[in-house]
Amino acid sequence: MRTNFHTHVQRCRHASGIAEDYIQSALQSGMEQLGFSDHAPFPGDCFGMRMPYRELSEYFDELDELKIRYKEKIYLWKGLEIEYLPEFCNYYEKLLVECEVDYLLLGEHYYKSRRKETKNIYEADSTDLYVDYAKTVAQGIRTQLFQAVAHPDIFMINPWSWDKNCDKATDIILDAAVACNIPLEYNANGIRRGIWDFPDGKRYPYPHKSFWRVAALSGVRVIVGSDCHEPNQVWDESVKRSYKNLKKLGIVPEMELLK
Ligand SMILES: [Zn+2]
Ligand SMILES: [Zn+2]
Repeated sequence: MRTNFHTHVQRCRHASGIAEDYIQSALQSGMEQLGFSDHAPFPGDCFGMRMPYRELSEYFDELDELKIRYKEKIYLWKGLEIEYLPEFCNYYEKLLVECEVDYLLLGEHYYKSRRKETKNIYEADSTDLYVDYAKTVAQGIRTQLFQAVAHPDIFMINPWSWDKNCDKATDIILDAAVACNIPLEYNANGIRRGIWDFPDGKRYPYPHKSFWRVAALSGVRVIVGSDCHEPNQVWDESVKRSYKNLKKLGIVPEMELLK
């Protein structure tokens, strides 16, 4: 069985292809389920790299229509990849209840620092901030508003070596995910980004081996996410590599996220 629940479309302004292009690619790869999870806009358009808020209803309408049109060929899900910040809890509920979104994928790029500032994890000036990042993600997991956590180890994209703060951040996220029975995503887009030079050697920015070795022992639920931003990436070499890497770690990923 082949599935993917982490799919972007050109609405986010940094992906190519419309939803139907991704469906065609999924069909060519023999996939049974495809979940769309473009970057969620927020009222007031306070974060970049995503569709404008006024376009959200059009995104939903398009997916509702495609779901019906393709129902004999593939099961489609209407989702969003979204930041967790405590002040938006009413918004998440609105998306799930009023907008009837099938799932919210907690893809945290912005988090709360210990000084209560909203920060971007791509710009962490020390690994201390990974702990703040992990605490925000764990708080998000505990709201039970999110069906899975995208790239939980994305903090390793920063130019620092694995250290005690990384251990701590890993434990914080894993403890919450295990306690709430929420799957963590092994993200193929980190692999797609290629091998970079880090102070701790040449490696993918994420997923990071040290994170997933601990995850393997924790019994946490795991899914693979393509995080495709081009139609030909829905089921590509990076996705296949992700499944192989998990197998080596002794992790059996789940193929279904939603029932
Ligand atoms: Zn993106
Ligand atoms: Zn994504």
